[in-house]
Amino acid sequence: LKTVNLNKIYGEDENRVYALKNINMRVDKGEFVAIIGPSGSGKSTLLHLLGGLDRPTKGTVEINGDDIYKFSEDMLAKYRRTNIGFVFQQYNLIPVLKVRENIELPIRLDKKIPDKEYIDKLINFLGLTERREHFPNQLSGGQQQRVAIGRALAAKPSIILADEPTGNLDTKTTEEVMELLEMSSKEFNQTLIVITHNTSIAKKAERVISIVDGKIQ
Ligand code: ADP
Ligand code: ADP
Repeated sequence: LKTVNLNKIYGEDENRVYALKNINMRVDKGEFVAIIGPSGSGKSTLLHLLGGLDRPTKGTVEINGDDIYKFSEDMLAKYRRTNIGFVFQQYNLIPVLKVRENIELPIRLDKKIPDKEYIDKLINFLGLTERREHFPNQLSGGQQQRVAIGRALAAKPSIILADEPTGNLDTKTTEEVMELLEMSSKEFNQTLIVITHNTSIAKKAERVISIVDGKIQ
């Protein structure tokens, strides 16, 4: 996964914000990278661009040599569905769907039938077996984030992009959630990129990329 002279400008004229300035970075398959930096420095913008959620003003994002923003909207959506698992600070679960249904949702949206055996295994891996028929509001914060991780992993993505995934969790739950992400990354050789303010998470990463004022330091 690599970027070449990646730039993002929001707004126009006097409202212009230079969110990213010539970002050149490269992350190898299976690598665990933390992105740190002050609030407003461009971390989320970068993660969104790496995941095909937004369009750059200039420069490229390449996966296996493909410039993803040359893809059509349909191809880009397919790329996101099949390659990228997103985890955010907010769990964004669907309140009227049960744990299992929330996890299966991306597969169903892709008009595929979930592989029951794999989903059961995933739910077990997440420690949610007893909770699989519960609704999100019946779960603790840590459990809800584990459901969100399950949803991110359901389609077996090769890249996991997490934006402050433990921002709402206490220390112990933070460790559990990060352990799950790391275990999944090791087990399935998934690239793991995590934005974090948490220094103990950054210490565990194989590499730390520090962003200040839209630039890599
Ligand atoms: P971080 O994740 O490091 O807090 P962001 O990537 O969210 O930083 O934001 C980088 C800069 O871009 C900030 O100045 C922010 O206000 C600005 N920004 C982010 N999203 C938008 C948007 N949709 N429209 C205008 N400005 C934005
Ligand atoms: P935490 O220590 O993370 O704050 P909670 O007190 O929210 O945990 O939850 C403790 C246990 O009770 C968890 O297993 C959670 O799933 C369960 N639980 C919490 N709220 C409900 C609810 N409304 N219905 C059923 N189970 C619940």
